[in-house]
Amino acid sequence: MRQISVLGSTGSIGTQTLQVVRNNKDIHVAALAAGSNVDLIEQQIREFRPELAVLWEEKKAEELKLRVADLDVKVSWGMEGLIEAASIPAAETVVTAVVGMIGIRPTIAAIEAGKDIALANKETLVTAGHLIIPLAKEKGVKILPVDSEHSAIFQCLQGERGNHIDKILLTASGGPFRGWTLEQMKKVQLEDALRHPNWTMGHKITIDSSTMVNKGLEVMEAKWLFGVDIDRIQVLVQPQSVIHSAVQFDDGAVIAQLGTPDMKLPIQYALYYPERRYLPGDRLDFGKLAKITFEDPDPVNFPGLALALRAGRTGGSLPTVFNAANERAVAMFLKKEIGYLDIARIIEEAMDAHKVIAHPDLNQILQTEQETYDFIAAR
Ligand code: NDP
Ligand code: MG
Repeated sequence: MRQISVLGSTGSIGTQTLQVVRNNKDIHVAALAAGSNVDLIEQQIREFRPELAVLWEEKKAEELKLRVADLDVKVSWGMEGLIEAASIPAAETVVTAVVGMIGIRPTIAAIEAGKDIALANKETLVTAGHLIIPLAKEKGVKILPVDSEHSAIFQCLQGERGNHIDKILLTASGGPFRGWTLEQMKKVQLEDALRHPNWTMGHKITIDSSTMVNKGLEVMEAKWLFGVDIDRIQVLVQPQSVIHSAVQFDDGAVIAQLGTPDMKLPIQYALYYPERRYLPGDRLDFGKLAKITFEDPDPVNFPGLALALRAGRTGGSLPTVFNAANERAVAMFLKKEIGYLDIARIIEEAMDAHKVIAHPDLNQILQTEQETYDFIAAR
């Protein structure tokens, strides 16, 4: 039986990963890791019987330990625990579904331990792609994309080895504020931003989708995953979320992957690659599908996308500043400490204030993250 480790098991991607495991019944979960959700991880431990369970907070881990004392499971906590879960000997694949840069060190540990990575945690690739991609090559491990657009691109590239990618067409739903005026955007409340038209996701990525910062992160993610220059990646708004992304080749052929919006498809594809398994759920009905429409992203209302492209083109430590500033600004917006349009403003201020390090190592990335948080706290 194949074994996996799931980092971020209680979140949107984590729970859907476990749903895929539940449907298939031929994968064993060796380790589960989450932040603080004791109730849900306890249920997951009782159902999936991992050897190791990890919570970020020590106190919560102590509580969990008492609750599962009747079971044969080790409970760990903190970064050490996450790294232990990422490198657990039994697992062949690690699903990285934690949110944010906290994923960098566990992802590196998993690759060093020779695990394939089913990668959802895009912030890790955005900030440390220049370390992770060469390391994965060196260790001979696969990075299998879970993000739906990147899974789509990956699927379009099957059988195309050696063929040059002319252009990646990275699709975006446009989020809940597509077509709004700037006046309307100024009045956006938290509740509005948490309402995504097509996907149900964790809070952070839902806000990122509404600002299109998510698409900016995805451009950088695609650059690393597929070795394509930023200028060959075109963001295309496709509001019905039917085309999950496409690749244009040198002969002009465009290959796209289509489907209903269901994250279980990319998750299952990453877990069983290259095999395709039956997945329960709705199928696209082209007879009922009235239309698929396209538009360019609006650069005025969604400045986060242009800032991401700037960070991606500059490279070095600037993507870390972009990402860390966004993580902090979104956390502040979720606590209603800042307004909606302040998110992009804070990112831009942090980027303008930063002196770029061309080839940051892991310590410099983590230091840049901390400096960005300090900069935002002091403003
Ligand atoms: P959620 O917020 O739903 O879940 C995040 C998970 O990470 C939870 O299990 C949470 O635990 C855990 N976590 C948070 N902080 C820590 C920590 N310090 N240590 C250990 N675990 C922690 O996020 P999503 O599932 O939406 O997103 C996860 C990643 O996948 C993100 O990088 C996102 O960009 C990416 N992604 C998500 C998609 C989606 O459809 N949701 C689509 C494509 C990519 P707890 O519950 O205990 O807080
Ligand atoms: Mg995506």
